[in-house]
Amino acid sequence: MHDKTKSLIEKLESEHHLELGEYEYLIAHRDQQAMDFAAERADCVRREIYGTDVYVRGLIEFSNYCKNDCLYCGIRRDNKNASRYRLTEEQILDCCAEGYELGFRTFVLQSGEDSYYTDEILCDLIGKIKKSFPDCALTLSIGEKSRESYQAYFDAGADRYLLRHETASPAHYAKLHPGSMSFLNRIQCLYDLHEIGYQVGCGFMVGSPYQTPRTLAEDMMFIERFRPEMCGIGPFIPHKDTPFRNEPAGTLEETLYLLSLLRLLQPNLLLPATTALGTINPLGREMGAKAGANVVMPNLSPTNVRKKYMLYDNKICTGDESAQCRHCLDLRMESVGYQVVVSRGDIIRK
Ligand code: SAH
Repeated sequence: MHDKTKSLIEKLESEHHLELGEYEYLIAHRDQQAMDFAAERADCVRREIYGTDVYVRGLIEFSNYCKNDCLYCGIRRDNKNASRYRLTEEQILDCCAEGYELGFRTFVLQSGEDSYYTDEILCDLIGKIKKSFPDCALTLSIGEKSRESYQAYFDAGADRYLLRHETASPAHYAKLHPGSMSFLNRIQCLYDLHEIGYQVGCGFMVGSPYQTPRTLAEDMMFIERFRPEMCGIGPFIPHKDTPFRNEPAGTLEETLYLLSLLRLLQPNLLLPATTALGTINPLGREMGAKAGANVVMPNLSPTNVRKKYMLYDNKICTGDESAQCRHCLDLRMESVGYQVVVSRGDIIRK
């Protein structure tokens, strides 16, 4: 590790700010020692705020219909091989009930951008979930909507919203998405969500095609400015039925390093050790926790649809029951000295 790398990691920890060129340098000069040093500092910072607690969210993938055609995504509109499904309100409520029994106190409803679920249907569903499980937080991850729709879901009781910005570079964004999608709109959505009062999660894939240390530095700068409550990052993994089928996957090492840098940038950030991280390496989520992650998001979807929500190839846990996933993650986190807790898992503000 160069002296400059070490001093930049220390500066990030103490000032929570670097210049664009400094982030770029840090990301471009990653070596094993830099990774180890960043992870050690990140774990220390995380323990000061969250101790060894790991927050758990139950992910319910309720529809894989999507009107968008993101070039990286397995459920993109143009993938004619995807077998499409929608869960009914009753099925979704059943998933929540099962999750509640298993100790989940946050439910994340995620889907493609599926206009079948009108605002009326969604608000009704949100109201029912909040009424049945008043001590739980409800997170939506259903893509870009109008400010009015976001407001309606919030008024109906939704607490949080996950919308990865995907990349903070407009030029890079244009290479990952069809011309019909707009970088500015996505960023506007994130600001709208914050203004309405949601706890917001942004995020990006690590190693997506055309990504560079420079675009990653821009992601870090964006997170500095936006100050999300959560930031979801995981490796890009190619899907066989997308234009990016032959692109290389993101690496375990770079993802772990970025988790550590994000923890140092914003110490109280909720940082998930994602399913994609567990997919590229069998111990990816454990290593993610050690590098600074403090959230896991196991699947609560009904077993018979799991294989259909294939964002990327070889996604793990698609054959397991929810209870198995929950138990398995308990053990995995314990094996590296952390524990999954039964709690809404809100961000801690000091
Ligand atoms: N339609 C919702 C949910 C998208 S899926 C929305 O627009 O927010 C959730 C996330 O999965 C995406 O934001 C993307 O970052 C990630 N993802 C999609 N395809 C992926 C791939 N091939 N490899 C890794 N992550 C992927």
